[in-house]
Amino acid sequence: GPAILWFRRDLRLRDHPALLDAAAAADGRVLAVFVLDPALLEPSGAVRRTFLFRCLRALDEQLGGRLLVLRGDPVEVVPELARSAGAVGVHVSADTGPYGRERDAQVRQALEADGVGWHPRGSPYAVTPGRVTKNDGSLYKVYTPFRRAWGDHGWPRPADSDETSARWLDGSIHGGVSIPDDEVHDLPLPDAGESAANDAWRSFRESGLHDYEGARDRPDRSGTSRMSPYLRWGCVHPRTLLADLAGDRSQGASSYRNELAFRDFYADVLWNWPSSARHNFDRRFDRIRLDWDRELFAAWREGRTGFPIVDAGMRQLLAEGWMHNRVRMIVASFLVKDLHLPWWWGARHFMHRLVDGDLASNQHGWQWAAGSGTDAAPYFRIFNPTTQGEKFDPDGAYVRYYVPELRGIDGKAVHQPWKLTAQRPEGYPQPLVEHAAERREALARYAEIKNA
Ligand code: FAD
Repeated sequence: GPAILWFRRDLRLRDHPALLDAAAAADGRVLAVFVLDPALLEPSGAVRRTFLFRCLRALDEQLGGRLLVLRGDPVEVVPELARSAGAVGVHVSADTGPYGRERDAQVRQALEADGVGWHPRGSPYAVTPGRVTKNDGSLYKVYTPFRRAWGDHGWPRPADSDETSARWLDGSIHGGVSIPDDEVHDLPLPDAGESAANDAWRSFRESGLHDYEGARDRPDRSGTSRMSPYLRWGCVHPRTLLADLAGDRSQGASSYRNELAFRDFYADVLWNWPSSARHNFDRRFDRIRLDWDRELFAAWREGRTGFPIVDAGMRQLLAEGWMHNRVRMIVASFLVKDLHLPWWWGARHFMHRLVDGDLASNQHGWQWAAGSGTDAAPYFRIFNPTTQGEKFDPDGAYVRYYVPELRGIDGKAVHQPWKLTAQRPEGYPQPLVEHAAERREALARYAEIKNA
């Protein structure tokens, strides 16, 4: 029988160890399958689903139209396919998130009951979560020492695979559904799929990397790689990127490696503490006083807070399904510390709207901002949205681009429209709250829990 290669977060053919394993196990005869799992698709939101569908179309094309797409609960669908195809085994790149682990354990059990092998190989990370521990076996909760150990651990060279590594079987006799249509049409999403990922990476290396260190914190410049949606779906593996950067001692390369290490770190934290996706890592924060104000939340979501950098970020998210990292930090801090809303409300909105929405990076990015995470910013360090805007969008170009009501204001004055007495910008709201007062309020609430 053939081997089944079940694609999940590894929608590529290059540098794909599980693909090589599958081909080796069945004399090259591989059945490629993707399962549309309603439990994962629903919370994804239309933007991420659309990008996924486009990645699947690209992969199907690489496979000469031979990607079998099934719909349903993988715990039933995958063993059923293995039975009807008479497969010798099922090959995957490991999924290390809480849902994927549980699902895979069940799939494995069902397969093994039928005598079919379950073969995980690799993961979506340079270093598979759980592999980096301290000498005494204990776990890292702080990024910097993790980063050091992660670098020392190292990663394998990219695997030498491509579409010619297997003979792709036509799975249409096993049923299958067509790849769903796009659900969003008016968002400028990046091109999908492996070759688009490689193009984006090449162009970043040629024109962005040398200035990455200086430009990465500037939302008014396109100074970052925009690789996050591709990494999310495994259109490219981080090991490939790291191999391309090997030996490059420039500041840009070393700071890019640090960001990829952050991605691995958060996946590692999620692996070691799966509940950190839902609960405060620092449980003292379970008792912090919160407001549960739905109207403030709506104003934040829609970019009507009256704080220009916050509103620009929230509108970028709605318009593009993506937001610059610096601005993600600013809007998250604002939700938690100026509006006193639960961080998971904000995290859920992000997961629903982001094309790169990823449980590990998102939930821990939010907990970092909320101060309740592993190595969180100390709670007393509260972003001032106005000075953050003036510092990282110094000429105001980012704000003017996303907030048309403020386009008439030149330069950095755009960050404090409330100061303009002569020409009040029409249609733009007054600040929803007074930052200095809310800062004091946040600190007072923190004082109530900090010695608990
Ligand atoms: P680059 O600057 O080019 O970075 C290269 C890659 O490094 C990124 O693609 C990403 O994979 C990784 N990376 C960079 N910064 C971080 C970081 N802080 N944490 C983890 N990985 C990082 N990233 C996601 O991929 N999905 C999310 O859902 C997500 N939610 C976030 C929520 C909050 C509140 C915050 C503060 C950050 C979040 N991030 C998330 C991290 C970061 O904002 C994005 O990875 C980055 O903006 C993607 O753009 P880029 O590819 O151009 O980044």
